[in-house]
Amino acid sequence: MQYLSTRGYAATSDSSVSFSEILLGGLAPDGGLFLPKTYPQVTPEELNRWRDLSYADLAFEVLRKFATDIPDADLQDITRKTYTAEVYKNARSDESAQAITPLRILKESGTHKLVLQALSNGPTLAFKDMAMQLLGNLFEYALTKKQAELNIFGATSGDTGSAAEYAMRGKKGIRVFMLSPHKKMSAFQTAQMFSLQDPNIFNIAVDGVFDDCQDMVKAVSNDLAFKTQQKIGTVNSINWARVVAQVVYYFRGYLSATSSNDQQVSFTVPSGNFGNICAGHIARMMGLPIAQLVVATNENDVLDEFFRTGVYRVRKSAETYHTTSPSMDISKASNFERFIYDLLDGDTARVKALFKKVETEGGFDLSGAVGSDGDEFKKIAHFGFTSGKSVHADRLQTIRQVEKEFGITVDTHTADGIKVALEHLRENVTMIVLETALPAKFNETIQEALGRDAARPAGFENIEALPQRFTVMDTDIAAMKSFIATHTGL
Ligand SMILES: *Cc1c(COP(=O)(O)O)cnc(C)c1O
Repeated sequence: MQYLSTRGYAATSDSSVSFSEILLGGLAPDGGLFLPKTYPQVTPEELNRWRDLSYADLAFEVLRKFATDIPDADLQDITRKTYTAEVYKNARSDESAQAITPLRILKESGTHKLVLQALSNGPTLAFKDMAMQLLGNLFEYALTKKQAELNIFGATSGDTGSAAEYAMRGKKGIRVFMLSPHKKMSAFQTAQMFSLQDPNIFNIAVDGVFDDCQDMVKAVSNDLAFKTQQKIGTVNSINWARVVAQVVYYFRGYLSATSSNDQQVSFTVPSGNFGNICAGHIARMMGLPIAQLVVATNENDVLDEFFRTGVYRVRKSAETYHTTSPSMDISKASNFERFIYDLLDGDTARVKALFKKVETEGGFDLSGAVGSDGDEFKKIAHFGFTSGKSVHADRLQTIRQVEKEFGITVDTHTADGIKVALEHLRENVTMIVLETALPAKFNETIQEALGRDAARPAGFENIEALPQRFTVMDTDIAAMKSFIATHTGL
C-alpha cells in the first residue's frame, strides 16, 4: 500500500511512501494530508468472515490492508495488546468491555431503529482513546525497531492531551510534553492529566489561555534546528494511523448491527475536526454498506454549512463559540481536505488551490453558483453525506429525553449526535449514533439538564483528590525550550 499527499506529493507511480514512513509524521512535505493511492476493498466473503471476530482481530484484518509494511504477526500482537477488556473497562458491564465498542438499542419501532455505539470506554472516557491507544503501541513498536526516540509536544484544552498521555505513558522511547492553560480546564480533566505520575509525561500549565499554548507550540515547532535536535513530533488529528484506527469501529458497528451484507446502516457522528467521520467515509469507500454518513455539529457549524450549501467558510477565533460540547468547538476542520480530495476525484492541483484559498480568503465555494470554485456539491449525496446542527438548548432537551425514554444518560457531544440522527431516520436502515464521551466528563451540563451528577465509572470517584504532578510556566519560549532540552537530555 502506497500513500500520496492530497496536494500531489508522491502522486506519481515511481514515487513511494509507506505506512511506516508516515506513521510518526504529520503533514506531507507539501502541506497536504496523506491518503492511500487507492482504497483497499472488502469482499462480501470477508465481511461474513469478519462478523464473528473479536474487536482486536477485526482491527488486525482492517489495519493489515493499510499497514502492508508491518509483518502480520507483529501487527496482530499490537492489536491484541491494544483492544482488551482491561483497557476498555469503563463499560457498563464485563460483557460490554469485551465488546470494546458495545451497541445499545435506543429505539426500535416498526421499521425504524436507533442504536448507540459506545466509543468512550477507554482510559480517558472519550473516543480519542480508540485510536490513540493503538498509536501508543504502534509508536513504541516503530521506535524500538529504529532504536529511535520521539518527544511529543502539543497543546490541549482537554480531550486530545489526556488521550495522548494515557496512550504514551510508560512507553519506551517516548516522552510527552503537554501544554494546557493553567486553571482553565475542568477539575475532572485537570485531575485526569495531572495525576499521572509516569516519568515520561510532563504536564505544563501555562499562565494564559489555550491560544497562548498553541502559539508556543507553533513557535517551538518553527525552530527547525531545535525540533530536529530534540526529536519533536505531534499526535494531532490529521495523523493517518489515527484515522485508520477509527475505520475499524465502523466495520464493528455495521457487523454487530446486521446479520447479512444486504442490510445497510447509517452513522451519525458528533463532529469537529472531521477525523472521526472521515474514517466512516473511508470505510464506505472500502465497500462497507453504509447508506448515510450524517455530520452532526454544534453551534460551530462550519461543516453543517458546507454539507447544506457547498460553501466552506472557516471561522475566525472571535466567531468560534465556547459551547457545552467543547470538543466540537472548531473553526476549521483539519481532516476535511481528505474528503475534498475524493470529492474532486483526486485532482491534487485543484485541492491545493482550494486550500491555499482557505489560507488567503478564508474558504471556498463548490456550490456551482456563478463565480464559484466548482460544482462538486451536487456529488455530495453520492458519497452518502448529509448533516445537521444542534445547540445548547437541543443538548439539554436531548439529554432529558434520552434519560426519560431510555433510562440512559448521554454526554453533551453524543446528545448533539442523537438530536441530528433523529432528523435523518430512514425506514429499514439502522441508524448508529457514535457515543463519543461518557457523561462524567461533562458533568456541569448533566447537572443543568437533569439536576443531578452523572455517574462516574469505578476508580474515578475521587480523582480530584489524587496528588498532581505539573509545572507552571509563563508564555516564555526560551524557558520552554530549555525545559524540554533539560528533560530530554538531548
Ligand atoms: C474530538 C471529539 C469530537 C470530534 O471529533 P472529530 O474527529 O474532531 O470530528 C467529538 N466528541 C468528543 C467527545 C471528542 O473528544
